[in-house]
Amino acid sequence: MQTRFPPAALADPDMAQSESVIRKCVHCGFCTATCPTYVLLGDELDSPRGRIILIKDMLENARQPSAEVVTHIDRCLSCLSCMTTCPSGVHYGHLVDHARAYIDQNYRRPWPDRMIRWVLGQVLPYPARFRAALALGRLAQPLKPLLQRVPALKPVAAMLALVPRRQHAQATSLPAPAPSVTNGPRVILLQGCAEPVLQPAIRVATQRVLARAGCDVVLAQGEGCCGALVHHMGQDAAAKAAARRNIDAWDAVEVAGPVVAIVITTSGCGTSIKDYGFLLRDDPAYAQRAAHFSALARDISEFVATLDMPPVAPAAAPLRVAYHPACSLQHGQGVTDAPRQLLTRAGYTVVTPKEAHLCCGSAGVYNILQPDLADRIGQRKVANLDRLGAAVIAAGNVGCAMQIGQRTATPVVHTIELIDWAQGGPRPYQIPPAQIAES
Ligand code: SF4
Ligand code: SF4
Repeated sequence: MQTRFPPAALADPDMAQSESVIRKCVHCGFCTATCPTYVLLGDELDSPRGRIILIKDMLENARQPSAEVVTHIDRCLSCLSCMTTCPSGVHYGHLVDHARAYIDQNYRRPWPDRMIRWVLGQVLPYPARFRAALALGRLAQPLKPLLQRVPALKPVAAMLALVPRRQHAQATSLPAPAPSVTNGPRVILLQGCAEPVLQPAIRVATQRVLARAGCDVVLAQGEGCCGALVHHMGQDAAAKAAARRNIDAWDAVEVAGPVVAIVITTSGCGTSIKDYGFLLRDDPAYAQRAAHFSALARDISEFVATLDMPPVAPAAAPLRVAYHPACSLQHGQGVTDAPRQLLTRAGYTVVTPKEAHLCCGSAGVYNILQPDLADRIGQRKVANLDRLGAAVIAAGNVGCAMQIGQRTATPVVHTIELIDWAQGGPRPYQIPPAQIAES
């Protein structure tokens, strides 16, 4: 695509980077067919190609973002399905990230939107605040129907809808993880922010699987949210601050001894950490270390697939599992085969839904900020999953598990919990014993 950015604008490295992305697009439109919002709405401006043109016009002419442009950019899930499809290698993800940051700096959103975004940025990345918010959310459930009727407050109703009714005892009183093997390969296990609050069993299952494979699992002191949540809202400075804090925390671990991988159980975080090298490319103090830690980042399925695994326990093995590939895993990281292979090797019968390439509508905080679209996308995903008649749905991202779990009666668990169970760990609490007998 031809561009006409003024030379002065290209002196800004972010602008120059976006211009190089835009130039790669040849308008072929292949990406439109795999874009969930275009598939649903049929509007070119809600397709990757249409958004690229909107972003080009906004950045090239240094335009004040209009409400219409913001609407179409906000509707993008950042699912990156378009990047998997694009034959020209257009890095749409970096382009839309820049557009979101530009909008954040140059557009004043209506106050309810500003308030909700501020609350999300101040609460979700901090486990203690998030836990307190969930407790409040349980008390506020009766307000949900009222909030749903006020368009500007629908995101608040969507937040309340995501609050788990209660946590199962097995999720809160967890058995101690197996001790790490101190002379094994050292791995940093990302602690995350939302996942340990919503599904604490995932981390413990991961620690057991890694310990059985002989790994020395380290939890880095001072580590926090990966920054993806604020990055998706265009809050660039906050995302960079989160990345720098984590790099410092991982540096301290490496000083004590070499690390072979940073293992991540939430694929949205994995995509973000694998991109730290790009995010901090212009920061002389962090660029090199950011690239180093990005290169060490591994999704749990990707890492475990390289390990020698113990034999499987027959109790778990015969189950029919519908595997939901999270967009951040399949499109963001290109990890497609490892989770399915792990589940198959563990003895499960793995089935894949129709339209597996399409997003479930979770997409970070998308299902809060765009509740109507997220619901339609989620319903479509769940219909495809339910059609498979599986006993359980496996996903490698807690956001997907929440979004899908809200809309189906089939239990949704993390892939690693099924691997742990097959290796002799406890049955994930979401799967009732009757389900095993029937499958
Ligand atoms: S990231 Fe997803 S929603 Fe956004 S334009 Fe690409 S395919 Fe469409
Ligand atoms: S597939 Fe790639 S090159 Fe073709 S329109 Fe989409 S982004 Fe542009």
